[in-house]
Amino acid sequence: MSLELGKGMLLALHLGRLKDEQRLRPEQVSLGKLNNAREALSIARECRTLLGANGISLEYPVLRHANNLESVLTYEGTSEVHQLVIGQALTGHPAFR
Ligand SMILES: Cc1cc2nc3c(=O)[nH]c(=O)nc-3n(C[C@H](O)[C@H](O)[C@H](O)COP(=O)(O)OP(=O)(O)OC[C@H]3O[C@@H](n4cnc5c(N)ncnc54)[C@H](O)[C@@H]3O)c2cc1C
Repeated sequence: MSLELGKGMLLALHLGRLKDEQRLRPEQVSLGKLNNAREALSIARECRTLLGANGISLEYPVLRHANNLESVLTYEGTSEVHQLVIGQALTGHPAFR
């Protein structure tokens, strides 16, 4: 969890610096949002399993965070559309329909 959190923070920092230099490309934004929303959700899920059955109870706030992150996964741009943007940047072929 710490590894992915650290990598996500470094990625966000790098993209922020590119933006400050006005060198940030849309597909790089997609890469950062896709990775960081996905990994944050994965971390929340792992926290929930560490708590066992307690992880699904309202006594612990882990799934409240996970539910919030499900919203983030959509409103920061859906995974499907970010993947299409990245795919186009990698291959030169737009697969949008
Ligand atoms: C809590 C929350 C807050 C929000 N806040 C804002 C806000 O402040 N401002 C704002 O403008 N919007 C906001 N939104 C809207 C959000 O940006 C949209 O919900 C999001 O962009 C997805 O659009 P949609 O719901 O119309 O899904 P749709 O476009 O109907 O897509 C449905 C599904 O199909 C997939 N899909 C769509 N097109 C394609 C395609 N061409 N190829 C393959 N798959 C595709 C999507 O990835 C998704 O999984 C918010 C959403 C939520 C949940």
